[in-house]
Amino acid sequence: MWKGTEAMETTVDSAFIRRAVEVADLNAVRVALYQLTGDPEVAQLPTAANLDEAQRELLITKAVSWLEQYAGPVRLTEPPEAELRTLMNMATAEEMGDLEFEARRDLPAFKEFPWTAEWTDAKPELPEGFKVAIVGSGFSGLAMGVQLERLGIPYVVLERRGEPGGTWTINRYPDVRVDTISITYEFSFEKDHQWDEYFGRGAEVRSYLEHISRKYGVFDHTLFNRDLKRATFDEGRNVWMLESETPDGPETIEANVVVTAVGTFANPKFPQFEGQESFEGPILHPAAWSPDLELSGKRVAIIGNGSTGVQLLAPIAAEAEQVFVFQRTPQWISPREKYGAPIEPELHWLVENFPGYWNWARYMAIAALFQTHRFLVPDEEWKAQGGKFNPLNDKMREDLTAYIKAQTGGRVDLIDKLIPDYAPFSRRPVVDNGWYKALTRDNVELVTDGITRFTPKGIETQDGTLYDVDVIVTATGFEVIKYLWPTEYIGKDGVSIHDFWSKDGPRAYLGMMTPNFPNMFMIYGPNSQPVSGGTGLPIWYVIWSAYSAQCVVRMIEEGHSRVEVKEEAYERYNKALDAEAAKLILLQEEGAPDKNYYVNEFGRLQVNAPWYGPEYHRMCTRVDWDDIEIS
Ligand SMILES: Cc1cc2nc3c(=O)[nH]c(=O)nc-3n(C[C@H](O)[C@H](O)[C@H](O)COP(=O)(O)OP(=O)(O)OC[C@H]3O[C@@H](n4cnc5c(N)ncnc54)[C@H](O)[C@@H]3O)c2cc1C
Repeated sequence: MWKGTEAMETTVDSAFIRRAVEVADLNAVRVALYQLTGDPEVAQLPTAANLDEAQRELLITKAVSWLEQYAGPVRLTEPPEAELRTLMNMATAEEMGDLEFEARRDLPAFKEFPWTAEWTDAKPELPEGFKVAIVGSGFSGLAMGVQLERLGIPYVVLERRGEPGGTWTINRYPDVRVDTISITYEFSFEKDHQWDEYFGRGAEVRSYLEHISRKYGVFDHTLFNRDLKRATFDEGRNVWMLESETPDGPETIEANVVVTAVGTFANPKFPQFEGQESFEGPILHPAAWSPDLELSGKRVAIIGNGSTGVQLLAPIAAEAEQVFVFQRTPQWISPREKYGAPIEPELHWLVENFPGYWNWARYMAIAALFQTHRFLVPDEEWKAQGGKFNPLNDKMREDLTAYIKAQTGGRVDLIDKLIPDYAPFSRRPVVDNGWYKALTRDNVELVTDGITRFTPKGIETQDGTLYDVDVIVTATGFEVIKYLWPTEYIGKDGVSIHDFWSKDGPRAYLGMMTPNFPNMFMIYGPNSQPVSGGTGLPIWYVIWSAYSAQCVVRMIEEGHSRVEVKEEAYERYNKALDAEAAKLILLQEEGAPDKNYYVNEFGRLQVNAPWYGPEYHRMCTRVDWDDIEIS
């Protein structure tokens, strides 16, 4: 039962239902209604953006009429493949190819457990004492835990913190929330979560993840307050020795397979400025926010304008006496429809009572990102004619420039400092939480001179100005590209993973496997986050977990004890990956490769999988056993 509906005193009458349909995604209404009725008139309607007034009215009337007669909490099962494809094509008004259909068919999430690893026949007897260790109990660790629960493979989760939820337990600063709409930030096996807002707040994400941990049994397998310090592969026995720090001292456990799910946003990046120790007030990283911090009447410095710095400014500016925002590099910061808005009770009701609506609303939310890749690759002809990068990217630049101008009320002093000199999509997109508007407040000042040092009373910049402040917030992000750091992983022949990666930073095969480190899989590993967005990360946590689980299944079924990627496959894959990455805006001169945490100090794209999303999906969902050695 959706919250909101329970507490609702409103009668569900025609007016209520009509309001529900009107606030809904009309594309999703259109496809769900067609799926339910097969009404040819509905099939002929264009997508929501192209409906004229009469067509819109026709759609709403038909939906209201259907709901008046049949509304009820029914979940649809997946339609037959041909019908599903028709519905998907109808949703986006585009015929998709087989590659795309394969990657997208599970996005409406009719199935609870797509991509899940399965035993070939009945579950075989497992080797005595066989165990998998998962490191981390955030989204990724939970996805892996659920795979193993379903397979019945014994496992343990080592978690540094005292609760599940990963980065969402670390980040508790004001206004922390998702910047991808929550309907896409859910597992298909735990859907229709009762989000209060379209973009769920941190606390809600945390409770969603804890709910999953408990409901699917992962919680009971989790050893909290275990900080893994060192993992060593015992080549003689093909097991990993995992040494953790616990409140009661060191602890070592053994596991046949280790799956790292340690995230990219788990280790805050603390800046080091000259004179930092001399500052007399608190210096706070958002990842170590204190709920008792009183900001009213205070003068506050916020260093950084990435996703977190941007989320923080508006709530802090509303409370503090004065805020100085220190910006090193301007960002392209874009609005999101319904960001910060509560989900209407009518919509909660509709989701519950209009079968298929949730599925198609989710599909449409993800479909908005299908074309992302086209923004990332240059159009040489367009550039020869005077364009900057390609028509879509240039148009986005124009739109965002206009947005900055509008939000700042035409303040030339601000606008000049805020418009980046690189192309959009060169860095992680930042969502506007009223940041530009907040900069126009009387109590907010944007500072773009570089910081030279902290003083006992505040911050000094290169032009010699001293900014007196009581509190400094260092919204300087996370050690994103230090994969698996600071834990030591020691593989075959005593090789340390950080030495193995020292030439040009962390790499992996498909983002998951590395030679010399048998029986080890990484979820959300190096070069894994699909660059073209496309489907939302939770789907990928499941795909990577399923891949890892499938390798474990085969190892067990064939009576082997070691699985690893072949060196040649790893090299080949990474060579192709580098070539693909070089084509993208992120590494090109119109981009911002030197100001981008997706790119490492060796100039390599390291966070993202550069592939067109559906191609990478195929690579990760069809294991190429020729690339894998099982012995
Ligand atoms: C503020 C913020 C907003 C975000 N918003 C979005 C969004 O809107 N959409 C989106 O797709 N993504 C978003 N992200 C990215 C987010 O990190 C991922 O979506 C997701 O939460 C990652 O899950 P994870 O399990 O891979 O990693 P994490 O959530 O980081 O979990 C890793 C876990 O591993 C544990 N761990 C690490 N090292 C060790 C060790 N040595 N021993 C034991 N335990 C260890 C950590 O304590 C942590 O619990 C956001 C991130 C942040 C910080």
